[in-house]
Amino acid sequence: MKAAVWVAVEKIKLVERDIPTLRNYEVLVKSRAVGVCGTDIHIFTGQYPGLNPPRVLGHEACGEIAKIGSDVTNVDIGDRVVVDPILWCGTCSFCKKGQYNLCTLNGGKRLIGYSQDGAYAEFFASPATNLHRITGNISFEEAALVDTLACPINAISKIKFNLNETVIVIGAGSAGLLFIQLAKLKGAQTIVVVEPNEFRRNTSTKMGADHVFDPSRSDFIETIKHVLPEDEIIVIEAAGTSESARLSLELASKQSTVVQYGYVSDSFVDGFDLGKVVLQELRVVGSVGYTAWNYKEALSLIESNRINVKPLITHTFNLEQIHEAFQLVHMQHDNVIKAVISQ
Ligand SMILES: [Zn+2]
Ligand SMILES: [Zn+2]
Repeated sequence: MKAAVWVAVEKIKLVERDIPTLRNYEVLVKSRAVGVCGTDIHIFTGQYPGLNPPRVLGHEACGEIAKIGSDVTNVDIGDRVVVDPILWCGTCSFCKKGQYNLCTLNGGKRLIGYSQDGAYAEFFASPATNLHRITGNISFEEAALVDTLACPINAISKIKFNLNETVIVIGAGSAGLLFIQLAKLKGAQTIVVVEPNEFRRNTSTKMGADHVFDPSRSDFIETIKHVLPEDEIIVIEAAGTSESARLSLELASKQSTVVQYGYVSDSFVDGFDLGKVVLQELRVVGSVGYTAWNYKEALSLIESNRINVKPLITHTFNLEQIHEAFQLVHMQHDNVIKAVISQ
């Protein structure tokens, strides 16, 4: 089979490989669409510690079952499936609560497309327990975004929504655009988006944002404050930079909830106003990955058309073009929001 192997920093090589052999509890999935994730790019560019080449990346995966292991009973050959990539131990205290995203096994870094070969290949192996059958009439490209949606669902499930809620989303990349739609579903009254890129601001409006702001404008802080209530807003930081983390706290009014969703690689943010957290009774909430339940919810929201992921898929590539796809996402060229490798 063809496989795109990450062989060195900024190098992916398309090679011929044997089809993976299955363990009794695994299935062989014919890879049909894979979302290019920020984590893939971090690994590709050598900014992700702990993983060394060679490795077939690709964890935002879906496809058709080509073969099943001898103990597998929950799915069958030909089924269309999405693959929850998190490999969990089932015995630690987090797994026992169903919170596989916090599994302590191997520091929680066991993932298809990370600790074992992933979906940027014609076929890949997965434990059968990680599969969810696609029953709705959705494309594989849409199915590849189940992972992308499951993460914001986990974050949003941690916070309380009032019926007259004002929600600020900082950063309108794929997660931010999904936060807009999820906030709408949760019944938010006003959704405010902060995003420097014009294309993303326009897409935010299409997704249901009521107000969009460009943070690079000098009158930004003054104008955004006109649309914010005095108290209790939800601020979602989905850009993952130190500046946006600082901004999320600056925009929070008394008794607001700040959701730190973006992962700031230099996670010590200078100027973080802990005094404000105390004096204004802020709640700061973190969120990482998703549980199997969040994953199932994400699939169901896409299948039932309550969340529209199509406008997020700005680019599709085939496996031979994977280098081009990675460079595009890495450089953030051509207004890319989400690139999908489709086979
Ligand atoms: Zn991902
Ligand atoms: Zn565990």
